[in-house]
Amino acid sequence: MSGMAPYTIIVGSGISGLSAAIVLARHGWRVQVLESHVVPGGCMQMFQRRGPAGGKVRFDVGVHYVGSLKPGQTMWRLFRYLGVSVPALPLDANCFDRISLPSGEFAVPVGWDALARNLRQACPGEAAAIAAFVARMRAVESSLTWHSLNADAPGAYDRTPHEVTVAGLLGELGVSPRLRSLLLAQSSLYGAPSARAPLAIHAAVIGSATEGPHYVVGGGDAITSRLVARLRELGGDLRTRAAVVRVLVEGDRAAGVELASGEVLRAPEVILALHPRRALNLMPSDAWRSVLRQRLALAPECVGLFCVYGVVQGELGEYAGRNHYLLRDDDPDCFYDPSTKGPADAIVNFAPPADGVQTFTAMSSARAEWFAPWQATRTARRDAEYMALKQRLVANVMAMVEQRLPALRGRLTVVEASTPLTIRDYVNYPGGGLYGLEPSVDSQGVNGVRRKTRYHGLYVTGAGTGTPGVLGACVTGFAVAATALGNDSLIREVRRETDAFLPCAAPGPSP
Ligand SMILES: Cc1cc2nc3c(=O)[nH]c(=O)nc-3n(C[C@H](O)[C@H](O)[C@H](O)COP(=O)(O)OP(=O)(O)OC[C@H]3O[C@@H](n4cnc5c(N)ncnc54)[C@H](O)[C@@H]3O)c2cc1C
Repeated sequence: MSGMAPYTIIVGSGISGLSAAIVLARHGWRVQVLESHVVPGGCMQMFQRRGPAGGKVRFDVGVHYVGSLKPGQTMWRLFRYLGVSVPALPLDANCFDRISLPSGEFAVPVGWDALARNLRQACPGEAAAIAAFVARMRAVESSLTWHSLNADAPGAYDRTPHEVTVAGLLGELGVSPRLRSLLLAQSSLYGAPSARAPLAIHAAVIGSATEGPHYVVGGGDAITSRLVARLRELGGDLRTRAAVVRVLVEGDRAAGVELASGEVLRAPEVILALHPRRALNLMPSDAWRSVLRQRLALAPECVGLFCVYGVVQGELGEYAGRNHYLLRDDDPDCFYDPSTKGPADAIVNFAPPADGVQTFTAMSSARAEWFAPWQATRTARRDAEYMALKQRLVANVMAMVEQRLPALRGRLTVVEASTPLTIRDYVNYPGGGLYGLEPSVDSQGVNGVRRKTRYHGLYVTGAGTGTPGVLGACVTGFAVAATALGNDSLIREVRRETDAFLPCAAPGPSP
């Protein structure tokens, strides 16, 4: 590679950092990714514990299922453009998400049309509201240039979808409480209550899940290992255990970073691919305008994550091939108002079995305040009182799982549980919130975190600058790379290049 190639440091090896790194490396830039943790991947990292049978079992942190992975869809195209082929398995087309509320169950099928049909059956008499909601979601999703991979998306400059909330739209449509419950039940996929969730976030996240939900075979490791190998193939480098403590600037441009070890790495381009509050702490205080800093100070973090990991004995039967949204109240916003009394909300995922072992993950919510007494402690060094609180919360989650998935009673062994402090320690989200910064009207649209800073060559990216999820964060990586490259046609380039990978090289669906 030429010595003149621009040199970029990317801080953070989540999907946003790795995808930005590969896009830049593909355009001839020299790239160094720095990761503070011992393994790369951020939320895509996996961890290992001894299972009940004595063997090692691996669990995903943040890749339970990924949307838009059908050939020709956006996530599939972004992976292809990055040069990786990720092994994927579609979820059940008739019911990829099963919603379980005190008042009954509902099967969420693949595809907006099929969803509208199931909703009409569940809420007879609301066909007009259902049609209007689905049409609005489709229109909003296709107005998002990166999510639809359409540089000329109609409505791209309309800020309304970032400012109107989902609750606002449902109120406008006058939907019944039952229909409201069904439309909101999967909101934990983006982690914001209906009164604060913008339409754009709901449309992007629920839209990609609805149109192309897939398991990634091998979990987050399967994505991270491929991306890291591809980065190295392109001449880029990744260092773990390399925590950045400060961004260096000279005059009005980026000049490099300083690591916790005191080592200084110089570079004219620096991209921070991490939680926006963490980015703010690393940059000179005037990198963002004071109004943005003030807005960020007030923007809420996602509700805290409490997660239970375990092993299932025997077959899953009818529970296989889908996720289960077990909510304690008919109002799905209960997820954002967690209680220490059980049974607790649980979003249950069954990854495809690996080495004959069937695992489960039950994701719940928690208040960061419950863990305040242990703020100054680190993972694996906490006292008996913390362990007792964890045990109580595990019991609350498992009570819900056993109540709503009765065929699994007596067949589940809990192996591990994580709290908001675990998320803080492992992916550096300050409040241990589910997806970090809450993707709410307070942090989106006009209130959104800016990728550009006042320093030339210094940028911020990651889920907190756009949409949470593997797809959303990957999109932010592409978008920041396009900004750094000054390349207005990256979307067209991605679409054009990946058309060639479609089965029979047929052109992709027109945008
Ligand atoms: C429990 C959970 C379940 C989820 N489930 C799904 C799912 O099923 N499907 C889906 O699509 N999405 C899911 N997500 C969301 C998705 O995984 C994330 O939104 C996405 O991976 C975030 O990517 P990112 O690049 O923004 O940053 P992150 O993955 O947060 O990575 C940021 C990286 O920066 C590093 N870093 C931070 N500070 C520094 C520093 N000072 N120096 C160096 N490195 C630093 C961190 O260690 C981390 O590795 C889930 C997330 C969680 C937490």
